[in-house]
Amino acid sequence: MTQRRKIAVLGCTGSIGSQALEVAALHQDRFQITALTAYSSKEKLFDAVRRFRPEMAGLVMPIPMEEIPEDLRFCQWVFGKECLTLAAQSDCDDVLVSVVGMVGLESVLTALQNGKRVLLANKEALVTGGHLVMNAAAKLGENSLLPVDSEHSAIFQCLQGAQGNPVEKLLLTCSGGPFRTWEKDAIRAATKAQALKHPNWVMGQKITIDSATLFNKALEIMEAKWLFHVEQDKIQVVVHPQSVIHSGVQFADGAVLAQLGTPDMKLPILYAMSYPDRLPTGGQELDLFALAGLTFERPDPERFPSLRMTKECLNAGGAACCVLNAANEEAVAALLRDDTMTLGTLYDVVEDTLQKAGSLPADTLEDILHADALAREIARERLFRR
Ligand code: MG
Repeated sequence: MTQRRKIAVLGCTGSIGSQALEVAALHQDRFQITALTAYSSKEKLFDAVRRFRPEMAGLVMPIPMEEIPEDLRFCQWVFGKECLTLAAQSDCDDVLVSVVGMVGLESVLTALQNGKRVLLANKEALVTGGHLVMNAAAKLGENSLLPVDSEHSAIFQCLQGAQGNPVEKLLLTCSGGPFRTWEKDAIRAATKAQALKHPNWVMGQKITIDSATLFNKALEIMEAKWLFHVEQDKIQVVVHPQSVIHSGVQFADGAVLAQLGTPDMKLPILYAMSYPDRLPTGGQELDLFALAGLTFERPDPERFPSLRMTKECLNAGGAACCVLNAANEEAVAALLRDDTMTLGTLYDVVEDTLQKAGSLPADTLEDILHADALAREIARERLFRR
């Protein structure tokens, strides 16, 4: 038996985290789960701890030790935000960072600085602190940061065939979300209920809203720039409603390599876990004969201002991308709380926050945390006034 890889799963009760545990259970000869953390879903965490028997378990929202069931006290329990940092430097080979939000940046940096390979399913880390993360990953060595996001995994898979040839263009596919064919005014008037109906993927609420506003694609452009060392003019978003092509790469001779599959996150999750090996995911195979056709459309920054803002933020540099992310996170949280809030308000809040705080520096982690906090304050105040 080959040595089992020890994996710490940060955010194990979310969509990515729980699917990672499913594929880990399928391949117990390959993976050992050594640490598990959750934000507040304690019952789900208890189930996972019972099943995988990690050495450490943590809950970001603290509970009294008495609430931990007797049979689960065999492992070390950590409560509060520090459970993420402790899990990221625990005795493991890989850290799957599938937490949502800015805490991901600190978790990723801690893991890399402690010599752990990072399986990255958190967007904020690269969006807000891309240069810090890429420096830490470069120090650790090649392939110390593996993407889990389906588009970035697809590009990473295509690049396995590049053999040192430079990338001419990254083709970042995008389902277009539920408002793909809607007029601008209708999109602006849309509410949470309409935004939560994603046509292809079943995901957490935050990312489902982001997929409707295309802020998810905005964050993915920013991530791709860092991960693959390309400038934004070499990243082409391609609206592809069937979500069969998960992204691709174009080379100097015009050859396009793309990765195809069913819309199942288990593939990119497992590929990062087992890289460079390919293992069965237990999911459905892609049936090309069952496909009616694959279609492609140009993205429209007029109807989806998130794409225009991305361009502006990447041109501005500094903390602009961090500010966009923070303002969007606050606006999405407000949208999820308020059935009457519209996407128009969400876009306006992000735009206004960028105007006010878009030129802050982002040289250090402190700069980034400051820009994030300030942007949230401005966005919240703006949301309160609406
Ligand atoms: Mg994605």
